[in-house]
Amino acid sequence: MEIYNKNLFVEMYSEHEGHLHGFKRVLVEGRTDFQQVEIVDTHAYGRCLLLDGKMQSSQMDEFLYHELLVHPALITHPRPRRVLVIGGGEGATLREVLRHPGVERVDMIEIDAKVLDFARQHLREWHQGAFDDPRVRLVVGDGRRFVETSPDRYDAVIIDVSDPGFEGPATLLYTLQFYRAVADHLSPQGIIAMQAGSSSIVEGEIMASIHETLRAVFPVVRGYETFIPSFDLPWGFCLGSRELDPRVLNAAEVDQRLAARKLSGLRAYDGETHAGLFALSKALRNTLATQGRVIEDHQPIYTPL
Ligand code: SAM
Repeated sequence: MEIYNKNLFVEMYSEHEGHLHGFKRVLVEGRTDFQQVEIVDTHAYGRCLLLDGKMQSSQMDEFLYHELLVHPALITHPRPRRVLVIGGGEGATLREVLRHPGVERVDMIEIDAKVLDFARQHLREWHQGAFDDPRVRLVVGDGRRFVETSPDRYDAVIIDVSDPGFEGPATLLYTLQFYRAVADHLSPQGIIAMQAGSSSIVEGEIMASIHETLRAVFPVVRGYETFIPSFDLPWGFCLGSRELDPRVLNAAEVDQRLAARKLSGLRAYDGETHAGLFALSKALRNTLATQGRVIEDHQPIYTPL
């Protein structure tokens, strides 16, 4: 976060672009073992979490990001019972998974204990007590190491890690080798969902490469996007599975599943939204088809800043 003057900070997306935010106060500012952490009260978006200077989520619109990361995958699965969440330190991804009464157990692996402490203290609206739900096993550790060593299998794996920054902790969670390890931990109908970075036309290579890398592991891969106002960018997500395809579910079927599973309180996701999410614009289809490469451990991908 770069302070521009005493009431404004800039979040830079690249060397050439950024978003100016008016702010009231800084609640947290410091370095952990893994990253720079800031929690700031802004005028437009309320409380915001920034990691390494990048907006992770805001009080005003985090529901858009977290609902659309979690529910398309869990609704596409016929009966998700065991779920793995990787990252997601704010606890909001966990909160959305726990909305599904059929989910019996959630393992959450977050690398940064300090982010969890800050979230417990300052981001109550995000986690809403999710960390203390008896269905949750919270592990502090590296998501990559966890999937490489754990014997467990899951119906859904939700990956909510930071963008692949040059020296960030998440870079090796975007590679072919990682997705193969995740695939080994999925039940036969298991599904993987992840945030895939900005889907802006000037940064298409990252989402397209994540999509391409998943395609090297999973027979069914679907990308989708939504605009997140506090990011000031259209944001990409990807789903992968051996057989389940979110695109075959129409709006009425999604609404039936939501009702049958007694999901309540959603503000962003329903049948109509689901159908719209998987009807991609021609421009995004073109980006996904032409701009990606397979990301490997020895040839990672990095966001511009
Ligand atoms: N909304 C986000 C975005 O736009 O990038 C992601 C949010 S979430 C706060 C990202 C979390 O991933 C952070 O809490 C970070 O500590 C965690 N993380 C990063 N690398 C990780 C790793 N290797 N294993 C587990 N968690 C990781």
